[in-house]
Amino acid sequence: METKMSVLDVARPDVDHDVARQVIAERISVLCEEGVEQKAAHLATIVSHYGAHPFTPLEQTRRTMGLDREAFAELLHLFDSVPELALAVEQGPAGKYWSNTIKPLNAAGALDAAVERRFAFPVSVGLYPGPTCMFRCHFCVRVTGARYAADALSPGNEILAAVIDEVPNDGGTTMYMSGGLEPLTNPGVGELITQAAGRGLDLTMYTNSFALTDATLSRQPGVWDLGALRTSLYGLNDEEYEQTTTKKGAFSRVKANLQRFMHQRQERGSDIRLGFNHIILPGRTGRLIDLVDFIAELNESSPDRPLDFVTVREDYSGREDGRLDGKEREELLHGLDAFVEYAERHTPEMTIDLGYALESLHRGVDAELLRIRPDTMRPAAHPQVAVQVDLLGDVYLYREAGFPDLEGAHRYVAGRVTSDRSLHDVLREFVESGREVQPVAGDEYFLDGFDQSVTARLNQLDQDVADGWGRFRGLVRAS
Ligand code: SF4
Repeated sequence: METKMSVLDVARPDVDHDVARQVIAERISVLCEEGVEQKAAHLATIVSHYGAHPFTPLEQTRRTMGLDREAFAELLHLFDSVPELALAVEQGPAGKYWSNTIKPLNAAGALDAAVERRFAFPVSVGLYPGPTCMFRCHFCVRVTGARYAADALSPGNEILAAVIDEVPNDGGTTMYMSGGLEPLTNPGVGELITQAAGRGLDLTMYTNSFALTDATLSRQPGVWDLGALRTSLYGLNDEEYEQTTTKKGAFSRVKANLQRFMHQRQERGSDIRLGFNHIILPGRTGRLIDLVDFIAELNESSPDRPLDFVTVREDYSGREDGRLDGKEREELLHGLDAFVEYAERHTPEMTIDLGYALESLHRGVDAELLRIRPDTMRPAAHPQVAVQVDLLGDVYLYREAGFPDLEGAHRYVAGRVTSDRSLHDVLREFVESGREVQPVAGDEYFLDGFDQSVTARLNQLDQDVADGWGRFRGLVRAS
């Protein structure tokens, strides 16, 4: 039996263009009298294009479609008059990019503030409390041996506490703890978490979980006040862990830590959400089924409270040694299907987030991985969207810049939070002074996948405004 397709489906990769055109024609026939079929065909093209290629400037799309400005503007008006078309774009293979990153930032007005270079308190504030890290991951940018001095801890924690206190708890800003270095190496991290929870902030901590031991938890019970604990996973056995982190026996210890943590979480009836970040490294595309087996084994430690989520990503760093070759991408194309299907059977309660690029691949479109380069980085960065604060109170403009002694990274410090200078003060001054950082080769590695997506979106919005399409900038805006 044939199921009726709706406008919401028109960006799905398996949809026939003629069928998409008909569905849209039916919907817009009440809105325009002439040329309905042709306009519908054009709108189908636009929706399916942006569903898979979200960063295209409007003028480029107009030229590719061979339309004059008047005809294109009429289409954009029509697009805005039919809200289902924007929703259809989100159903496309690149939908995660729209729904996870762009929509929340649009709704908060952060992207407009960045384009207009107005001060706005950031939507995301990262705290980097770790003074050191016990691993030495081969892809990590941190400088071997570099750490924060022991006497930086106490004043640093006071600064971070002050930042927690000034973050508006109106739901407009999310806060997380990460690094930089490893958060659990800070003996005051539990108190900071409790303070954030006391202000109603749903804090996520990114950790390698090597120090998530009973001893840490008894010294720092505040860890239980986290909203979520997200463990970065570096392999599925001791050998893989050692190859990646150079630490012997680390997998066994992380696994034992997590088994105990999950067991205690169940015993306590704790609400804390637990999950993994898993980056697919070259040579390990075939391990996704083993990942599910590992999680299923962990779940045996707390059958009533299984692991909540896993995010799987490619290496976004842009480094050559992180890139999957053609054969591996081909394997991944099939491997992702098998992974999702296997996980549905063995870890049915776990949410899988494949992110923008892998979700596209999973849906049959090999999406372009964003590659922001120094010449496409934005000298004013995007402090209206996200900043990160380290133990010295230094406010970093990009997520991968907050490491001690990292060459060139100090240029991306917007300013320092002190006892008499708040994060608000630092950011207002940075934005209103018009200060810029001129990127040089290698600076692109300071951007993580999120920073890259935001940069691409802002560049697109700037281009649309410059091309005279400001009224329609970015195609899909706040909804
Ligand atoms: S990636 Fe994380 S765990 Fe690995 S060395 Fe860097 S800070 Fe430590």
